[in-house]
Amino acid sequence: MAPSIPPATDRLYETDAYATETTAQVLDVTAQGVVLDRTLFYAESGGQPGDHGVIEAADGAQLPVSDTQYLPGRIRIAHTLASGAPLQPGDTVRLAVDWDRRYRHMRMHTCLHVLCGLIDAPVTGCSIHADRGRIDFDLPESLFTADELEAWLQEEIRRDRPVRHYWRTGAEVAEALETVRTVKAPPATGERLRVVEIEDLDYQPCGGTHVRSTAELEGLHVTRMQKKSRHNRRVLISDHSG
Ligand SMILES: [Zn+2]
Repeated sequence: MAPSIPPATDRLYETDAYATETTAQVLDVTAQGVVLDRTLFYAESGGQPGDHGVIEAADGAQLPVSDTQYLPGRIRIAHTLASGAPLQPGDTVRLAVDWDRRYRHMRMHTCLHVLCGLIDAPVTGCSIHADRGRIDFDLPESLFTADELEAWLQEEIRRDRPVRHYWRTGAEVAEALETVRTVKAPPATGERLRVVEIEDLDYQPCGGTHVRSTAELEGLHVTRMQKKSRHNRRVLISDHSG
């Protein structure tokens, strides 16, 4: 008999990044954490950390979640509890995301997309925190200063550009990327990809959480640019919104 495929965790944050509370059912309790049939907790990926928050058990017990990670295969998501898990498969629980921290991640993450739109060069790495972020570009020479980039960022925030999500085939994404950016397109397979678009600025496949408009990035600033190697320029972002 073929091994049964474990049910996947439905990633509700991909449909609505602003939802903060819901109910879910426990699928499994593993060494890595509690696996649910659906979740609002973002699983660490693409430089954005896993969410924190609380799982409320049926008896009202408040179980703090200290991390959220994909299990191998990336179809199930484990919620790490600070202490043991008094939960069983089949239990119904309530979820509450640490919204302040997550919203800061959404702002920082969206800000990095704005920088991708402003700087037409391949991205070689990035990192997202609640109060700061960084993104590395493959740029052989410095074509602008940190002050210039900061002025461009503030202009994009003032422009209040809408941020939208779509599901597209790899071929559709490859075709769209050819017209908007010089980045390498993903392989044109039949698999559907989640795309994020900042109107008239950036378009790329991304599974992360983003804000609805660049106006929500108010308080974010380019603080420095560093030359990390002959080809690598690092841009540092800081959140001054308090
Ligand atoms: Zn993204």
